[in-house]
Amino acid sequence: MTARILVVDDIPANVKLLEVRLLAEYFEVVTATSGEDALEACENGKIDVVLLDVMMPGMDGFEVCRRLKADPATSHIPVVMVTALDQGADRVRGLEAGADDFLTKPVNDLQLMTRVRSLVRLKSLTDELRLRASTTRNIGLEELLSRRNAADDQPAKVLLVDERKSSAERIARLLRGVCALDVAEDANAAFFQAVEGGYECVLISTGFADYDPLRLCSQLRTFDRTRFIPIVLLAGEGEEGRLVRGLELGVNDYLTRPIDRQELIARLRTQVRRKRYNDHLRASVAQTIEMAVTDGLTGLHNRRYLDSHLATLFERASSRRRPLSLMITDIDRFKSVNDTWGHDAGDDVLREFASRLRKNVRGIDLACRLGGEEFVVVMPETEASVAEKVAERIRAQIAATPFPIGKDGEAIEVTISVGVAGLKLAGDTVADLMKRADVALYEAKNGGRNRVVANAA
Ligand code: GH3
Ligand code: MG
Ligand code: MG
Repeated sequence: MTARILVVDDIPANVKLLEVRLLAEYFEVVTATSGEDALEACENGKIDVVLLDVMMPGMDGFEVCRRLKADPATSHIPVVMVTALDQGADRVRGLEAGADDFLTKPVNDLQLMTRVRSLVRLKSLTDELRLRASTTRNIGLEELLSRRNAADDQPAKVLLVDERKSSAERIARLLRGVCALDVAEDANAAFFQAVEGGYECVLISTGFADYDPLRLCSQLRTFDRTRFIPIVLLAGEGEEGRLVRGLELGVNDYLTRPIDRQELIARLRTQVRRKRYNDHLRASVAQTIEMAVTDGLTGLHNRRYLDSHLATLFERASSRRRPLSLMITDIDRFKSVNDTWGHDAGDDVLREFASRLRKNVRGIDLACRLGGEEFVVVMPETEASVAEKVAERIRAQIAATPFPIGKDGEAIEVTISVGVAGLKLAGDTVADLMKRADVALYEAKNGGRNRVVANAA
């Protein structure tokens, strides 16, 4: 896993120190010696992680971080603040400025690599989501992400896993009024609670008498439904080894006892904010993909989906020498439905038709709205003679039961014409197949409508 790391420090010797260590681990390194340069590097370069010194003349690290996080073009880049030792207040300020993590000087090698790697991993996930969102959606991603989610203002749902009552109570006191906290004493029960509970962060105390808390971490990371829940370990002093293993397992962060209230709150907020951001991205990607292939009026697949999926079904059928048929249906004199009853009534008819179509085809059939009042059903593993019977059944059903329009219980008679064609054994193409069905449909229209014609060729 390689990545481009920006090292920012006003003292060149400090820059060099980090640069050498990162280069030794095969990271690419970009450097800056002022806040302004750092911002510019983030805007222009594909930076994956920023290591940011706090104390700089002019624009300090907090301000740089705030600006990076305020700009939608850079807000997803993880920022690690590098603070002087024991500057607890700096950490809290840094996290409040939106920093994702921090390291203290002198920077410990193991911490440096673990933190940078875990942030790079997270960044690459976010990048992939951003890429998918932007390639599948016409509206700008920035606009999408800046649209605030109602849930963003809700207090976070947090699960605390702690066997020791007194410790759990103390943490609950620290978090009173900050988040909606549930407490689980038993680690096994906690796992199921986390699966079901819709938590946005799990705090796991390492202080179990007879249980390895990393087991719970690894279970949470393994299960689909809990994979993206941030995990924060609450560790005792001298537990470095366990923390390193935890971070390698995908634990997002840790705090060392005694736990500082401000720090706990700031870290929790960072984790929750990051999770909400990624959830939001993931949901919009899923929604975009869904929207891109779905017809908004009927909920059937649209033409774009038909084009790509029919090609796949066609290839599969012809290479395996299996039958495949399709039908094109067109509502008869639909223009006069609109003209007589209005466009909304026309839409009602289209929806009702789509719903009847869906009920009359098998799960493996692909029903799509081609556009207007034309629909296509692709039927894998189906000979044209069978497809013709299916088409006839649908035609009869449509004609037999009038379509309700509007809310007055009014209903109108609707008929359809259908063209059916089947895959030919040799030298056939998708375009030819569609063409034959279309020709058959044309014959059905010419023959007087309300009928099915199968293309014999
Ligand atoms: P034919 O029997 O020859 O198919 O006649 P037709 O009137 O059904 O065919 P034509 O293609 O002339 O008209 C189709 C009409 O469908 C015209 C168009 O306004 C209407 N239409 C297309 N899409 C929609 C839609 O989404 N909603 C509604 N209400 N009408 C639509
Ligand atoms: Mg029509
Ligand atoms: Mg038409």
